[in-house]
Amino acid sequence: MSTATAPAPDGDIGVTGLATMGANLARNLARHGCRVVVHNRTRARTDALVAAHGDEGAFVPTSSVAEFVAALSRPRKVVVMVQAGASTDAVVEEVAALLEAGDVLVDGGNARYTDTIRRTQALAGRGVHFVGCGISGGEEGALLGPSIMPGGSAEAYEIVGPLLESIAAVVDGTPCCTHVGTDGAGHFVKMVHNGIEYADMQLIAEAYDLLRARLGLSPAGIGEVFAGWNAGDLESYLVEITAQVLRHVDAATGQPFVDVVLDEAEQKGTGRWTVQSALDLGVPVSGIAEAVFARGLSGHTAQREAARAVLPGPAADPAPVEDRDAFVEAVRQALYASKVVAYAQGFDQIAAGAREHGWEIDPGALATIWRGGCIIRARFLDRIRQAYADEPDLTTLLTHGYFRDAVADCLEGWRTVVVEAARAGIPAPGFATALAYYDGLRAERLPAALVQGLRDLFGAHTYRRVDREGVFHTVWSEDRREVQAG
Ligand code: NDP
Repeated sequence: MSTATAPAPDGDIGVTGLATMGANLARNLARHGCRVVVHNRTRARTDALVAAHGDEGAFVPTSSVAEFVAALSRPRKVVVMVQAGASTDAVVEEVAALLEAGDVLVDGGNARYTDTIRRTQALAGRGVHFVGCGISGGEEGALLGPSIMPGGSAEAYEIVGPLLESIAAVVDGTPCCTHVGTDGAGHFVKMVHNGIEYADMQLIAEAYDLLRARLGLSPAGIGEVFAGWNAGDLESYLVEITAQVLRHVDAATGQPFVDVVLDEAEQKGTGRWTVQSALDLGVPVSGIAEAVFARGLSGHTAQREAARAVLPGPAADPAPVEDRDAFVEAVRQALYASKVVAYAQGFDQIAAGAREHGWEIDPGALATIWRGGCIIRARFLDRIRQAYADEPDLTTLLTHGYFRDAVADCLEGWRTVVVEAARAGIPAPGFATALAYYDGLRAERLPAALVQGLRDLFGAHTYRRVDREGVFHTVWSEDRREVQAG
């Protein structure tokens, strides 16, 4: 391209990667008055964006990365919205090579946080600020206001923070965007956000399944139940769209939409990453793990087919539910309480990740920016925000007065539902694991003492005693005397 036609270096921000998310984010920025330089590897996407939406604001289409970077004012601000993994590495490398010290490169994709830490370190040597930025809200959120979780240096946030805040969702006058912490902190919390989203959806699915199997309600009827729940404490985007999906009728067959969809849940990986990270951190995120495993089980079609043919269920059909309204309420209680557990576990993981990586993550600020824009947005998150405001050093959300009482109010229904599900042979791993976690936390004594005894017997792994300091070993293979081991 000749210099005569090159765009002036006056773009406020650049977006490269103009598939669904990038295009909508660019439009959102343009609608908020930014002069947005746009670029995509395949030029056709750039042209399509400008042709369809060029009248929404100031777009500067460019054909090459060099032209893209040259069209930005200094310090340059670039948002990369491409596939996570190798594609992000390739694009970050190509763009960063043309940036200068003080410029800011934002990765808005779903990168693995460890990759973000690596990229931050690689670019720091060149003086380029790298911002690993979690963005949630899907296609619509990117356009109308997502929840934005940027990680990086405070200096970088000073440069791009105001722009990001200007396009974020707003709840009670507060933008759903905050500086989460340094390097991988933003992508870490986005990962856990997605893990919580997995758990939330699994619990919703179990509630649907139980209502259908035990009460014989139609999908549309269950949609009504969810719509009703959405007017109460369960009010959330996911509960709202559950009502929509359950009421939807397949145009081709006239069947409920949910009945024509193959029952094999897929995943892109952030739930799996969350569980892998939780295992490394030693945090029991059982709700998220069960949700990931439940998707895994759903996809094991050969095993399911073999099992369906031979594995017996309960000996007798369960008796019909006598009080239908009470059962619906019990399922609501199971859903609410299990959801509190899943969120409590997710926030535990965030605290553990922060300790491990030296991030100063404010859980209350996270709850605040998850109130709007993102997939797990819910009335509930305002309660979590309040809980951390009341007790900044809260060890688990479950012990905060509000949640303690709210879950206590749900206990009876929750236990009934888990028992009913087991009796009727209906899988409810999310409800069951959440209840087991709750009971595990509140137990006076756990059978972990026996586990320690077994470990000491077969592997001399030692144990501590309830009545004395120190580490001990019983000489099991000799006279079973106890010796001090450390
Ligand atoms: P995709 O993840 O489908 O990525 C497609 C884009 O990546 C296209 O612009 C494509 O360019 C570009 N691309 C892929 N490989 C390369 C490469 N090697 N070099 C240059 N460009 C490349 O797009 P989405 O819009 O769905 O998502 C973008 C990012 O946002 C992803 O990281 C995704 O995980 C994340 N995200 C997505 C959400 C969603 O709801 N979809 C929600 C939140 C985050 P080309 O047109 O030339 O093929």
